[in-house]
Amino acid sequence: MAKHYDMIAIGAGSGGLSAVERASEYDKKCLVIEVKTIGGTCVNVGCVPKKVMWFAANTATQIDSAQGFGFDIEVKNFSWKKLKQSRDNYIKGIINWYDSHLEKLGINYIHGFGQLVDKNTVSVNGETYTADHIVLSPGGEPSVPNIKGAKYGITSDGFFELETLPKKVAVIGSGYIGVELAGVLNALGSEVEIFGRADILLRGFDPMIQEVLDKNYTSHGIILHHGTTIDKVSVDKTIFTNHGEFSGFDSIIWAVGRDPMTQHLGLENASVECDQRGFIPTDKFQVTNVDNIFALGDATGRTSLTPVAIAAGRRLADRLYNNMTDRHLDYSNISTVVFSHPPIGTIGLTEIEANKEFDKVKIYKSEFTPMADALLNQKTTTALKLVCVGDDEKVVGCHIMGHGADEMLQGFAVAIKMGATKKQFDDTVAIHPTSAEELVTLR
Ligand SMILES: Cc1cc2nc3c(=O)[nH]c(=O)nc-3n(C[C@H](O)[C@H](O)[C@H](O)COP(=O)(O)OP(=O)(O)OC[C@H]3O[C@@H](n4cnc5c(N)ncnc54)[C@H](O)[C@@H]3O)c2cc1C
Repeated sequence: MAKHYDMIAIGAGSGGLSAVERASEYDKKCLVIEVKTIGGTCVNVGCVPKKVMWFAANTATQIDSAQGFGFDIEVKNFSWKKLKQSRDNYIKGIINWYDSHLEKLGINYIHGFGQLVDKNTVSVNGETYTADHIVLSPGGEPSVPNIKGAKYGITSDGFFELETLPKKVAVIGSGYIGVELAGVLNALGSEVEIFGRADILLRGFDPMIQEVLDKNYTSHGIILHHGTTIDKVSVDKTIFTNHGEFSGFDSIIWAVGRDPMTQHLGLENASVECDQRGFIPTDKFQVTNVDNIFALGDATGRTSLTPVAIAAGRRLADRLYNNMTDRHLDYSNISTVVFSHPPIGTIGLTEIEANKEFDKVKIYKSEFTPMADALLNQKTTTALKLVCVGDDEKVVGCHIMGHGADEMLQGFAVAIKMGATKKQFDDTVAIHPTSAEELVTLR
């Protein structure tokens, strides 16, 4: 007879792991299945290795800046190989930790490809397992366009496998992953060109952020090709576009979006519906069209971020096993950071969105050279914006680009989630001298 569980999660990434971890805290018997490496995208080919690379890139920028503060520094060498080895070892440590962690929580783990057999049964490695609740958390994988020569490029997964720093790189795609990888490579010494279909970087972000990012990246020597579609790529990595041919690259990185990994999940065996792109829709309680099957994280096509997948997974287990009947994730006002150089932090509505939704919108913004760059030859621009609505000027959007924006935003996100008004921002005494103080002194 098949072994029975309270919960089975297919996919041991941010979402699946969080659901079974929280369920096990309520003494539920859980199984989690993973086909690649435990930890999923975030730990292996996403947030974690990306942030390590961002720290390395920041170090390079700081070494450059040191001259402005009177240091006479000579860099003898930069070893990409050593950086990669240290990063890989760091990630191996996290992966190894999961074994004892899951064992301590009493969660069973199977390495293999999980498939739905019916609404209560999952198969993996030729065995079947049953559960009252099944969580689909298979995440996504990088898209590669269906054009001639696409195979001569790599994806963000391939970026983390690079053994040497490419001399000249084409990043195709101007979303956040493209912008982040371009920033890292540029700071570490590659010549970088970004090719994007849109007329700006970071489509959907506030226009101020798009403009200042454009300015900061251009001033750092990144070449931007907006409004560009790629027709084909040749074996010598020449890119043929609607704006002509571009050559000389030793690496091409596709950063053109991500597809859900739902194709062979056996959705049809349990009559679970997905949309045309393969994303699994759910209601606000993460329930699919089948009442005991839930979907979490990137595979749902909603806000693809690690803390979102984690929060949805934890809330689901709280609701199912701890009598918290209305517990669910509120997808509004989720803050996010783009680890560009310098970073971007953003939460809530853009100016454009606010104008569509509200009659009375007031914008407060500021753009300046941060004090950190005052003595440097190579300066960046810091920009901040508050989007306020109504007579009481409730703050519904906050957008920042500049040094420290990544760490700055989290606290402001609490205030905005609580419904803070501009007056309450103004009543907060500033911390001086910082860039963040501008957010409580905007006029
Ligand atoms: C380059 C990059 C940088 C990122 N940076 C950030 C960041 O800075 N901050 C942030 O919040 N988010 C970031 N993200 C996004 C973040 O990684 C994802 O939102 C998050 O990992 C989603 O979690 P998930 O559980 O939905 O899926 P995943 O973490 O992708 O986990 C899904 C797991 O399921 C497995 N799987 C799939 N199908 C099956 C199957 N049939 N059987 C068994 N296992 C299966 C997969 O192998 C995978 O390990 C980044 C992503 C990328 C690609």
